[in-house]
Amino acid sequence: MTPPVAFSGNPLDRASDKRTDKAWLEGMRSGPRARVLPLWKLQPLLFGPEGQPLRLGFLDGELASGLGDESAIEVFLGAGAGNTAFFARDISSLPDPPAGALANYGHFRDARSATAMLQASESAILAQAKSLIDWHNRHGFCPKCGAPTALADSGYRRICPKCGAEHFPRTDPAVIMLVTRGDLCLLGRTRRFADGYYSTLAGFVEPGETIEEAVAREIMEEAGIRIRGVRYFASQPWPFPSSLMIGCFAEADSGEITVDGNEIVAARWFDHAAVRLLISGASTEVGLPRRDAIAFHLIAHWAENGPWR
Ligand SMILES: [Zn+2]
Repeated sequence: MTPPVAFSGNPLDRASDKRTDKAWLEGMRSGPRARVLPLWKLQPLLFGPEGQPLRLGFLDGELASGLGDESAIEVFLGAGAGNTAFFARDISSLPDPPAGALANYGHFRDARSATAMLQASESAILAQAKSLIDWHNRHGFCPKCGAPTALADSGYRRICPKCGAEHFPRTDPAVIMLVTRGDLCLLGRTRRFADGYYSTLAGFVEPGETIEEAVAREIMEEAGIRIRGVRYFASQPWPFPSSLMIGCFAEADSGEITVDGNEIVAARWFDHAAVRLLISGASTEVGLPRRDAIAFHLIAHWAENGPWR
């Protein structure tokens, strides 16, 4: 069975109406039902032995308040069952919490590798926490006038006290697409991939561009193929640092591949039967993406439901 898409299915109620409700937030944060996830240098605290499965290391509010200095960035993640409020706190100012203040609580691990050991719903909370904290770390100064900015709306806005500009957390859209042609699909590899691994093509949406235009442009740039019939499939948050991958299918008008040799170093057509064998594990001719990746879900959906003619 294909696992859910990583970073999807956040179980928290984001409760955006509470972000400006100071009395409610302060009451919840100082009460017994506050849970705070510490992030140290963008790595989450994790509970459980070094191995699977792990849980996010949400601490009691009072304990978390003592971690890091007074100005530590803290953001509201949302409300959960039992009237619980969830927060994330940046404790990067501590020199070495795994060896000090939190030595007996758990361990820290980078978000990418932690995701493989968390349930998808917990990885979704991690994506929200990591992207928000990372955004605050990189937006301490106003891009308009250069003055220091201040956190507002419990983490979902920054305000410049000098020029009054407001800044909001960004999500950068990217398209990721499986190109098909009859009973063939196109997979490629970038320089970054481990040897022998192939995946769907992908790229960022540019300013002033539709999803369909971005899909067509990226496939033309990377593989020299003209496409039509772009269809949306599903999406995946990608908190490195803060993207949304928009998964699509597209039909190729032609079969001749011209790889750009820059972003994509190799691309080829795989027939439907070969893809089914790769997914089942009966063939190991090439490696496919992780099963919790939107890329794998695109390939698996076509393998199960295609080919489309
Ligand atoms: Zn400003």
